[in-house]
Order: sequence, then C-alpha cells, then structure tokens
Amino acid sequence: MARAEIIDGTATARALRARVADATARLAADHGVVPGLAVVLVGDDPASQVYVRSKSRALAEAGMAAFDHRLAAGTTADQLDQLIGSLNRDPRVSGILVQLPVPPPLEVARLQAAIAPDKDVDGFHVANAGRLAQGWPAPVPCTPLGCLILLRQRFGTGLSGMRALVVGRSNIVGRPVAQLLLNADCTVTVAHSRTADLAAECRRADILVAAAGRPGLIRGDWIKPGATVLDVGVNRLAPAGADPGAKPRLVGDVRFDEAVEVAGAITPVPGGIGPMTIACLLVNTLAAAQRRAGLPPMPEAVP
Ligand code: NAD
Repeated sequence: MARAEIIDGTATARALRARVADATARLAADHGVVPGLAVVLVGDDPASQVYVRSKSRALAEAGMAAFDHRLAAGTTADQLDQLIGSLNRDPRVSGILVQLPVPPPLEVARLQAAIAPDKDVDGFHVANAGRLAQGWPAPVPCTPLGCLILLRQRFGTGLSGMRALVVGRSNIVGRPVAQLLLNADCTVTVAHSRTADLAAECRRADILVAAAGRPGLIRGDWIKPGATVLDVGVNRLAPAGADPGAKPRLVGDVRFDEAVEVAGAITPVPGGIGPMTIACLLVNTLAAAQRRAGLPPMPEAVP
C-alpha cells in the first residue's frame, strides 16, 4: 500500500492567514474598521507566555490590533469580571480571549461566561456551544475549526455520509469537532477514556480525529486502510540522549511511523493542526469584526 499523503497544515495555515490579511485590509479601507483582539493572561506560566506572544505577532502580521492584559497570579475573579466587562463595552475590541489554563482558584467556566458571546473568539461560551450543537452559525473553537477546514479542503461536500471517529470529548476539542462533523453530515462516534474497545472503533472510521493527549495511543494497525487521520494531540516527551539543553520532543496521539503506512492521509505533529489553530483565531477575530459591522463573515468562519 502507498504511504499516506502528509496533510501540510503549515502551508494551508499560511494561505489562510494571507486571505485573512487581505480581508482585514479591505475591511479597514472600505469600512474604517480594524479588528482587535484582547488577550488576557493571568499568572506567569511560561508556555502561556509563549502562546500569547505568538498570537500577538500573528495579529500584527494580519493587520489587526492586539490589546494585551497581563495580570498577576493573585488576580481575583471579581477583578477579572470587571476587566472583561470593560472589554465587552470597548468598541475597539472585536474579540476577547482568556489564555488557559488560569491559576486556581479562578474558574474557567465563570470567565468564559463573562465574555460577551459576540466577542467570544474561542467559541467556548455556553451560548455559542449551544448554537453549534443546534447547527446554527456561531464562533467555532479554533482547533476544531482548523480540523474542519483541512477536511473540507480534502473532501468538500463529500464529507457527507463518511464515518468519523473523534477520540476525546473535551469542550475545547473533542465535542466541538464531533458537532462540526455531525453538521457536515458525517456519521459520528465519540470515544473517550471509558470507551470499551478503542481499536475496534478506530478500525471502522473513514475519518479519525485523535484528541486524547496520550502520546502514541493510536497504533497503525488500528487504522482503516486509506482513512484520513487528523492528529490533534500535542505531547511533550523528554529529549532522547543526555544533552541537558535539548528541547522536549513533540509527538501526537497517533504512532505516526506506523500510521503513515496504512492511512490515506495524515497530519504530522508538529506542522499539522497546530498552525491551523492560530490561523483560525485570526479568522474568528476578523469574523467578529465583520459581524459587528453588519457584514457577512469570511466563508472559512462558517465551516
Ligand atoms: P483533555 O485532557 O481536556 O481531554 C482529553 C480527552 O481524551 C478526554 O475526553 C478523555 O476522555 C480522552 N482520553 C484520555 N485518554 C484516553 C484514552 N486512553 N482513550 C480514549 N480517550 C481518552 O484534552 P484537550 O484539551 O481536549 O486536548 C487534547 C490534546 O489535544 C492534547 O494533547 C492537547 O495538547 C492537544 N491540543 C492541541 C491543540 C493544537 O492546536 N494542536 C489545541 C488544543 C489541544
């Protein structure tokens, strides 16, 4: 059997970011609107600081405004409510993102509920999750949106009737991916940590989306020959060898070396879903600004 096609998320994300930048320039020229994203970071988690920096860079490259709010780890829920309330009212702010995780005792659900649904570019607000579940237009969480864009690029409307398995049921990835696939007329199964026979579920799937956060969980002989595999997992493993300065290795939830011999197409880690996530944050920020201006959102925001 031929080796799988490698789905190049980096190239697709680059092209998507260029389309966002063009549409952003048109929005500014024709309507005087500059999309802006407020990013709220609480505490000093080093990985979160890296993510926030790369988001700010991506916004600037797309011609958007970034409003960074860095708060001390001891910030209270009431103080955050006040900040989010003022961002909800600020006309320069099209979208609001609270970088996760937040330090305890802050509760993610309370913060997400405080963001105005039309500024919820992460798509985590319960109103937007509900809209997605009902098949209504809504801001869609960025990683799931990235998955759908890659699948639409490959199959278009041919997704209809395909058998899809989503491994993972988090609110951030698994559940919204399953909703999107259902809205695209796939026959969807959701597997999770209590699923009885994960290998058997995988073997039935034409589309397999792995989002469990378990390195190498899915073996090559679990994959249906010719299936399309999206590996969302990002797992950091200790570097091989004894070099103390070596960086951790990133691996997905799928055994890539095995899966590539069986699948029809597969996303690598890194270079698959990761770059699509940040491109989709730009899509959602632009779409929020477009909707606010009474204009239709760019088509990619409505998968
Ligand atoms: P999570 O821990 O919130 O959820 C994991 C889900 O996987 C749970 O529903 C759990 O039931 C399921 N699961 C765990 N072990 C399992 C097993 N052995 N068999 C079947 N199901 C199992 O994680 P999350 O936030 O959904 O993220 C999942 C993965 O995706 C992580 O590796 C995360 O780093 C990655 N991620 C990547 C991006 C990206 O941009 N590429 C974005 C978000 C998350």
